[in-house]
Amino acid sequence: RKCDSNYVPLTPLTFLKRAAAFYADRPSVIYEGTRFTWKQTYERCCRLASSLRSLNVVKDNVVSVLAPNIPAMYEMHFAVPMAGAVLNTINTRLDANNIATILRHSEAKVFFVDYQFVPLAREVLRILMSDDSASSSSMPLVIVIDDIDNPTGIRLGKLEYEKMIRKGNPSYNFEVEDEWDSIALNYTSGTTSAPKGVVYSHRGAFLSTLSLVMGWEMGNEPVYLWTLPMFHCNGWTFTWGIAARGGTNVCLRNTTAFDIYRNIAQHKVTHMCCAPIIFNILLEAKPNERCELPSPVEILTGGAPPPAALLQKIEPLGFHVTHAYGMTEATGPALVCEWQAKWNRLPAEEQAKLKARQGVGIVTMADVDVKDLKTMKSVPHDGKTMGEIVLRGSGIMKGYFKDEKATSMAFKDGWFLTGDVGVIHADGYLEIKDRSKDVIISGGENISSVELESILYKHPKVLEAAVVAMPHPRWGESPCAFITVKSNSTGVTEKEIMAYCRKNMPHFMVPKKVEFLNELPKTSTGKIQKFELRAQAVALAAA
Ligand code: ADP
Repeated sequence: RKCDSNYVPLTPLTFLKRAAAFYADRPSVIYEGTRFTWKQTYERCCRLASSLRSLNVVKDNVVSVLAPNIPAMYEMHFAVPMAGAVLNTINTRLDANNIATILRHSEAKVFFVDYQFVPLAREVLRILMSDDSASSSSMPLVIVIDDIDNPTGIRLGKLEYEKMIRKGNPSYNFEVEDEWDSIALNYTSGTTSAPKGVVYSHRGAFLSTLSLVMGWEMGNEPVYLWTLPMFHCNGWTFTWGIAARGGTNVCLRNTTAFDIYRNIAQHKVTHMCCAPIIFNILLEAKPNERCELPSPVEILTGGAPPPAALLQKIEPLGFHVTHAYGMTEATGPALVCEWQAKWNRLPAEEQAKLKARQGVGIVTMADVDVKDLKTMKSVPHDGKTMGEIVLRGSGIMKGYFKDEKATSMAFKDGWFLTGDVGVIHADGYLEIKDRSKDVIISGGENISSVELESILYKHPKVLEAAVVAMPHPRWGESPCAFITVKSNSTGVTEKEIMAYCRKNMPHFMVPKKVEFLNELPKTSTGKIQKFELRAQAVALAAA
């Protein structure tokens, strides 16, 4: 097909060109006092892409970004692939060691840093410089993004984002050669401590974007509030999706209750995505932080299970919730709990229970099933028999970057293995019951228990460590560490372990509870029985 003269590669970059042509004067991006139209956004992206080319960024180079949901972060979703490069947005909650590992593994050529994260980036660069193999050519080129609304003048090197835009060519021409070319690289903590870089193609991103816009029934000209970090699966593809709909992106540096309500009221927001943790923020807002919603706001939630009780409380405030389920490897949401009109007649409690189910595959995730992994046979649709949730569709990643082994282990018989355990109800709707992978989801952020354990094992007094999820009223889940100490180590305290953790890992990973045991429960083959510890963690949370 590539040789055909009428071959048109699928790429979300065409959404921007189209928005610039047909929604030219509509607001594309709003951020405090800054406003751009689609014509301006397109021009700014052309300028940035051409400036990147003039810095010798070429096809398949990785361009990393450490930034909150600001206009520059949005623009880079187009400008970086327009330069032929691959966009790597980094979770801003990671610590310097994790970020250095990502930059090293991805061989990032350029590293954009928002001014707020300059101190963190300094530490990252110091770690990279101290590598044995470090040389000036292996270091990424750093470009600081100052706040366009309120410049700070903070610098880290000579290059600055707005200067790059000014210097660029507004009539830059770009072309995507092959729809299978990579567009984005997103690191996930996964189930082992090794970082796994999930690669998306232009084709996969294009198809996932359209099917999510469809699955959420998003009409033209939405006003979209950026509560979901763009570094989560490229904002679940809505970075590209809002351009496809000629909508308006309302950017947000901080997701405080006050800022969310203020922006909703000021810009008449119609749509937003968020993990269920944001429901708590909205519900717990003080009277002086809240305001009336000018009209109902559509919320797409996912990333962690939304408790039915929360769903029931949030809707009377004027938020209408759609529940989605997905993961980085599936380009964000892969299933949506599609609402059926007949459910409208049910009592609110019943409705919330139905909505808490993870749902059905979006159109590009044609095959969704729950299987017994040993036989690869589907489980009966009885809402009771559990199995592994498996997926097949065009939204599934190309693979893990530079990691063929992990890529081949992620699939079986052509199915992507999610590491989640679920059931299918008689109406075909899927519901998650558990996770077979060792991941704790705290406030929508993934914490690898394996990674946390490996850090605990490095503590001189720790003999054995096992970390499981503990229910938490605010964060949904939080890590709970079970520890046995070495025989010559007495008087180790929870406080000491927590202080050690705060020093050695990102703060969101620090266990909320440390429990000392004489022995960890084990199977006859010596495997730690995590289900036993999970039960203990539930009891501890309730105590
Ligand atoms: P994301 O960045 O979207 O959170 P991750 O890859 O970090 O994606 O996490 C994916 C995991 O989050 C899933 O495998 C699943 O365990 C959990 N998850 C995602 N959505 C839901 C949901 N709606 N309900 C329950 N768990 C969910």
